[in-house]
Amino acid sequence: MQNEVYSTWLEVDLEAIRNNVRQISKISQTQVMAVIKANGYGHGAEAVARAALQAGAAWCGVARIEEALALREAHINGNLMVLGFTPPACIPQAIEKHISIAVYDWNMARKYLQYAQKTGGQLKLHIKVETGMGRLGMQADEVPAFIQWACRQPQFMLEGIFTHFARADEPHVTSAKDQVDRFNHVLAVLNADGICPPIKHAANSAALFNLPEAHYDLVRPGIAMYGLNPSAGTILPDHFKPALTWKAQITSIRMMPPGHGISYGHLYITAKDERIGVIPIGYGDGFRRLNGQKVLVHGQVTDVIGRVCMDQSMIQLDALPEAVVGDEVVLLGRQGKQSITAEDLAARWGIVNYEVVCGLMDRLPRIYFNE
Ligand SMILES: *Cc1c(COP(=O)(O)O)cnc(C)c1O
Repeated sequence: MQNEVYSTWLEVDLEAIRNNVRQISKISQTQVMAVIKANGYGHGAEAVARAALQAGAAWCGVARIEEALALREAHINGNLMVLGFTPPACIPQAIEKHISIAVYDWNMARKYLQYAQKTGGQLKLHIKVETGMGRLGMQADEVPAFIQWACRQPQFMLEGIFTHFARADEPHVTSAKDQVDRFNHVLAVLNADGICPPIKHAANSAALFNLPEAHYDLVRPGIAMYGLNPSAGTILPDHFKPALTWKAQITSIRMMPPGHGISYGHLYITAKDERIGVIPIGYGDGFRRLNGQKVLVHGQVTDVIGRVCMDQSMIQLDALPEAVVGDEVVLLGRQGKQSITAEDLAARWGIVNYEVVCGLMDRLPRIYFNE
């Protein structure tokens, strides 16, 4: 699609998101919590939430309560959960907006209770258990007593219990299996006390594929829902589709004489008469200020030359005499037979694909297809 008002933009195919959610449901045979923290991994939280719910996701999961509140403002009415820390002062809003929250700390829970008592209404809780991630989570042996206490509080409703894997993406999932064992042990102890939290959940995208025994009642895919590989060792099956394309227009093309410095620091100097194009993207959009970047122009891999600036970059167009100002450039995605994936950019930038898409700045307009 050629749009007329933006010089650079993201295209998000919501049918790809829906397709991926359906694939995930088929694999897990459980409920799906679409993880849409960090603005839906850069894709746009609201649109992704809507698409995921349309495709049958029962939940949306976010990292922070602000993210959940923004979704409620946007009239996303499905089940919403905050997976990370929620400040006690936000508990009245969580109750009012029917947002489920994670709890992993007894002192915090007492503060939550005070706010809940002041507010009236019930706070929906998911207990987070430490099984090996070493991040947030209540020590396993404290969980039964905690849950018994929590179940006695009329202001609390125990909705779920969950944990999170540190190494589910690795080819040998021994560590993740140990985590499953620890989680199962906690569930067994609770069961012996007659406590069965309604929703047990653990699996991120990698565990969805590598650890069927971790599917429980609900899976929590993030990266796979966007059609991106959980890791180099955990590649998505073929029928998953990436949802995101990043495009820009060529904003200038000039012939530059030999010996002409290009961009800050003159790291690139023309060797002869060279055809140099400008594209209106830079590190202020989430592109990286590194050498050796490539983009697609007229279906051909084309070099970015000289320093990447905040808002602009230069490209070498000698091989493309037919290129003109206004032509579409693809930074991430497919053009003709060529493609640049988030994984390609991650490899080039020395980061992971998660960071590539989360790093796409808010100023990039998102254009949604197949709404
Ligand atoms: C981010 C996150 C997920 C999703 O992880 P992916 O690897 O993107 O599938 C699931 N659960 C929790 C608690 C998370 O923080």
